[in-house]
Amino acid sequence: MSKASVEDIKIASQGLRGDILSNLNDPSVTHFEESENVLLKFHGTYQQDDRDLRIQLAKEKKEKAWSFMVRTKMPGGRVTAEQWLIHDRLADDTNGTLRLTTRQGIQFHGILKGNLKDVIAQVNRSGLTTMGACGDVVRNTMAPSHPIKDAAHLDSQKLSEEISERFLWRSSSYADIWLDGEKLETLTDCTQPVGAEDPIYGKLYLPRKFKMAIAVAPCNDIDIFSQDVGFVPHVVNGEVEGYTLFVGGGFGMSHGQLSTRPFLSQPLFYVKRADVVNVTEAIVTTQRDHGNREERKLARMKYLVQSKGIEWFREEVKRRVPNVETFPAKDIRFDSVEDHLGWHEQGDGLLYCGIYVAQGRVKNSDEGPSYRAAFSEIAETLKFPMIITGNTNIIFADVPKDQKAALDAILAKHKVPHADLMTATHRVAHACVALPTCGLSLAESERVFSGVLDKIDVILREFKLENDPLLIRMTGCPNGCARPYNADIGFVGRAPGKYAMFVGGSLRGDRLAGLEKKVVAINDIPAEVRILLEDFAKNRSAGEIFSDFWGRTRVNGEAPTPEQFHIEFAEREARKGEAALTAE
Ligand code: SF4
Repeated sequence: MSKASVEDIKIASQGLRGDILSNLNDPSVTHFEESENVLLKFHGTYQQDDRDLRIQLAKEKKEKAWSFMVRTKMPGGRVTAEQWLIHDRLADDTNGTLRLTTRQGIQFHGILKGNLKDVIAQVNRSGLTTMGACGDVVRNTMAPSHPIKDAAHLDSQKLSEEISERFLWRSSSYADIWLDGEKLETLTDCTQPVGAEDPIYGKLYLPRKFKMAIAVAPCNDIDIFSQDVGFVPHVVNGEVEGYTLFVGGGFGMSHGQLSTRPFLSQPLFYVKRADVVNVTEAIVTTQRDHGNREERKLARMKYLVQSKGIEWFREEVKRRVPNVETFPAKDIRFDSVEDHLGWHEQGDGLLYCGIYVAQGRVKNSDEGPSYRAAFSEIAETLKFPMIITGNTNIIFADVPKDQKAALDAILAKHKVPHADLMTATHRVAHACVALPTCGLSLAESERVFSGVLDKIDVILREFKLENDPLLIRMTGCPNGCARPYNADIGFVGRAPGKYAMFVGGSLRGDRLAGLEKKVVAINDIPAEVRILLEDFAKNRSAGEIFSDFWGRTRVNGEAPTPEQFHIEFAEREARKGEAALTAE
């Protein structure tokens, strides 16, 4: 599909309606055409087919095995026990699992068309929604996962809810299609009739998806530099005075297309708390009006910031909010993108417990762990609120100290491993979904990553590096959903069993990795990692983490800017006389 046609579909959609409803109600229609598929994303669902079956079905001249992914969004990943149990029960109508996402959401996979409306309706009746979880709009707003009861954390969560509310799209099509027109409290303002123009998004919505997240320094658990807009609170006299904003991050790129590449977000300015949401709207509308609508691969806001320059961008945003006073960005340092796994104090006498979920896949397994059974039993019996982290883990919050043992016992009963038993590298690693459901995947990711990590664990122990956190991430294609480009080591799928290898990001999330190897076969990944670990173990300074070792020995201690990343990319190409990442 040409990029212009996506814009055409949006403008002709009558508030994102298209023919979704009539096709949904027609049982003889097995799947949606591409024009409806474009619109379905705004409603929080993707049409997919089982790629494990695709070739065989084609040989048998049968239709693809169609199904749907549905994504629930909730600001800051906050879910009540009751909402979790509703999602857990809905998973029985899917492939039997839940997938925690890298934007603190929950995904169902394998929903059949006949169940799609019911699943989306039940998600909404739980008090959450799928509206805007995908599509060319503001996606789920991320906030710090850790339920620490201080001013910065509490206000960050509040801000994520304010942003989420401000940027819901307003057409009544969502309620008309999925809720038979029912007016839920959570969608009170989403009642615009056919023909009305969205007050923020207009008729064209945004050029591409738009991602925002809030981090409380020094913890960068939501990976702020990968976001279109990032926010960091600044506390004065016990209250949040304002936020420093970052803009222009984003990691998606396309193999062989050097005009596409990852960028880290950069500081925009500091504004007072009362102005943050209005300034955010000015940023979003700047992208709406100036973002690239001709070429979708270049439509993310990072390309606008790069092409026009941060100064131009800053002035344009300020022009849109003339009464807002802006100040220089504060100096902010982060120390890690890790989640707080295990037990921690909240600061109000209660505890929270972070649990590693392998690749975010909540399922049961005979040999363990049975995450699904464990989490539903905790929700059913202990009723603690849950938080989904940007590293696809789960946190149980508000745990009284005298119920710590009860939670631990349920985890042990279902063989959910304690994070303390894992290597520090294993604890922070994650991979994207990829095959068999993601239509863009070029290689396996989620299904192979635990096996890869187990082999890397052996090497880490051999070099006595089990307590040294290396950030290792994998994706099945260059879109970068699991954020491989700022990892210490990132593997990016390019063909079945083959990955591009990036090295040199940072545990802090504030440095881009460089392309190290164009192609590594999956079976060779442990050997490639071994070379790096052996060098690190032999030549590191006392106490030095891998990110700093690489910075000291390979990039002169300087974090490469996006421009340097690109220049280095180009230099390597010239040196080797071949196009980086061009398909073999
Ligand atoms: Fe799919 Fe690529 Fe995203 Fe992985 S990174 S989930 S393969 S689009």
